[in-house]
Amino acid sequence: MINIMRHLNNKVKSPSGVIDECVDMLWKYVNKTKKDGSPCKNSITSKLSEFKLKRLRNGSTSTDKDRKKRQESYLRWLKKSGQVERLIRAKPADFEKINNEVEAIIKLSDITDKDSSGKSLSDLLLASVFRYDLYRSHQTFIDIYKELHFHKASCVYCNIHSIGIVKTTDKKEKSNFDIDHFYCKSQYPHFALSFFNHIPSCKECNQTYKGKNNFTTNTHIHPFLDCFDSHYRFTTLPGSLQNGRVSSISLDIETNKYDEIKDDLNLEFRYKNEIKGDLISEFSEYLWKRRKLFTKGKPEEIQELKEYIESQTCLNKEDILRTRMSKLKRDIVKEYNIRDLAIFD
Ligand SMILES: [Zn+2]
Repeated sequence: MINIMRHLNNKVKSPSGVIDECVDMLWKYVNKTKKDGSPCKNSITSKLSEFKLKRLRNGSTSTDKDRKKRQESYLRWLKKSGQVERLIRAKPADFEKINNEVEAIIKLSDITDKDSSGKSLSDLLLASVFRYDLYRSHQTFIDIYKELHFHKASCVYCNIHSIGIVKTTDKKEKSNFDIDHFYCKSQYPHFALSFFNHIPSCKECNQTYKGKNNFTTNTHIHPFLDCFDSHYRFTTLPGSLQNGRVSSISLDIETNKYDEIKDDLNLEFRYKNEIKGDLISEFSEYLWKRRKLFTKGKPEEIQELKEYIESQTCLNKEDILRTRMSKLKRDIVKEYNIRDLAIFD
């Protein structure tokens, strides 16, 4: 619900420096080198080089000659010097440009259609070159998301569910969140290990709603590029407060940003269910009962109100991802006339 850069803002000295470090960690993990700087046998560079030889020698993925030519061109494009590193380090703003290059070479169906062996080119690349599965189960993954302050956070997309890193009984660390591939890895295997294509999210967002739907930086707010909270606001609907309990809300975009996240992740519907729970009901009821204090309260009453709000949500926007439902709670607070209570955007 907020930009990941903002999530780091008041937690580390240099958010962009931390992100650069994490990109380096990922690149060094996937492309291990020998002392002389040449790539190790299990590095992505070596694997890609082997893949090309195997594919060309077998030549059996397609009976279609034109398709095979396009697939070979795509592999040559991947194999270009520096290309894999460019892909892994690609910034969100570069994704569409890269995809335009790919689309000029190969059709999407050439990447995703399964051949007689039941495998697509994408399946083969993911199984032997872009090994996201290995990275996901490696300590490097945990170390990166600890650096990014996701050891205790909430889903970047919905802010409904808590996500984090937990210790298992054998004292190992384990993440209890999903990584959504903003550009699906089945359609864009070249982005399977791209740092900025990885969005830490809850299972509900990633598996129930996003699934294999594709997001693009032209149509969906990218959490490393833009900020959901800066565009959207929750509003309790007039007449929907019953004894202080919110019975209905809307989630509306307030800027002219084009975005499909709200609909694709069914956010308004999901929040309409969430407000029925005690977490939001008790919060809104507490504020409603003290609504006059916002404008007429004595300093000590205002202070008490402020402390309660701080204990339930965050005054600083930068902390929205730290606690689940913070964005909704902040927007509920904003509906009151606030005196001496700064909500920092
Ligand atoms: Zn979520």
